Amino acid sequence: MKITFPHMGTSWIGFKSLLEGMGHEVVLPPPPTKQTLDLGTKYAPEFACLPFKVLLGTYLEAIEMGADTIVSSGGVGPCRAGYYTQVQKRILQEQLGYDVRVITFEPLRRNWVGTYRILRDLVQVSLREFLSLTWLTWQKLLALDAIERESHRVRPLERDTGATSRLVAQAFTDIDKANTVREVKDVTKDNLEKMKNIPQDIERQPLKVGVIGEIYVVLEPFVNLDVVETLGHMGVYVDRSIFLTDWTIENTILDAFRVEGEMNIKEAARPYLPELIGGHGQNSIGETVLYAKRGFDGVIQLAPFTCIPEIVAKSIVPKVSEDHNMPVLTLMLDEQTGKAGISTRLEAFVDLLAMRRARLRGETA
Ligand code: SF4
Repeated sequence: MKITFPHMGTSWIGFKSLLEGMGHEVVLPPPPTKQTLDLGTKYAPEFACLPFKVLLGTYLEAIEMGADTIVSSGGVGPCRAGYYTQVQKRILQEQLGYDVRVITFEPLRRNWVGTYRILRDLVQVSLREFLSLTWLTWQKLLALDAIERESHRVRPLERDTGATSRLVAQAFTDIDKANTVREVKDVTKDNLEKMKNIPQDIERQPLKVGVIGEIYVVLEPFVNLDVVETLGHMGVYVDRSIFLTDWTIENTILDAFRVEGEMNIKEAARPYLPELIGGHGQNSIGETVLYAKRGFDGVIQLAPFTCIPEIVAKSIVPKVSEDHNMPVLTLMLDEQTGKAGISTRLEAFVDLLAMRRARLRGETA
């Protein structure tokens, strides 16, 4: 099998390690580009949301590179993501005639048997080796998240613009090359140490902004047009509401055992949106409330165009914003959105937050 999978942020480093370790040839999904999106948009239903289009484009590129199997995830609940792989499979096989196999992992709590069958088919090593590979993959994902978290803290303070991003790129390469848990821990420690030593202006008091929204657009920099890095270079500390390891614990591991996760977020959202509406709609509301309580200066909501959960959240956000005196900027993202336009809107929002902070502190901006 020549396997590929969705490209979402840095997660490819973990999945590549897992699938290669299991004895498969991996066709790395290329990082999405404008061409990927154009390709996906060409064959996607008109009102499909942005992640659908980018993923379809990615699969088409990976198939051209030789992939014959796609491993992806499904889902249940009000969001359309649950049937997206089925639609993509039809487009690839029936409409475009590709001889490609599509393997879909459904949520564990509903499909222990199906998951077991898929794993039995995919895993070509002993159980012991598989468990140790899974542990190595998990350590890589934790390491990637740790590097990104630290970069969000250091970037707004760096004296040499770009120094943090350069180090982050090197850290990702090191984690990708690491073959054992020990190596993963060593390179992570080494790179975190180097990041701490990047010359920083510790007198700066960066504005603090929370980034919320749908998981794919929050985690994939191409789709969100590098919002996190751009804000960092504007001297803003960003708290990204979603990291893959946290999400996996809450929505895969706890969910598998029917333990409800993210209770604090759901509790905070309850006065405005007591129901789960799919995707991250309810989270976007709860997280806005929590960022206000944590004293953040503002919140940026990333919403794919036609994403119903985020559209619902967007309609509630003004009330939350008013009640908690929390400025919120919603960025609707689609194939027409350009980086220059986003940067201009971010600059204006950051100026507004700076003036607001100065006013609240009784300073002149
Ligand atoms: S949450 Fe929104 S963007 Fe994500 S798959 Fe569902 S509808 Fe699409």
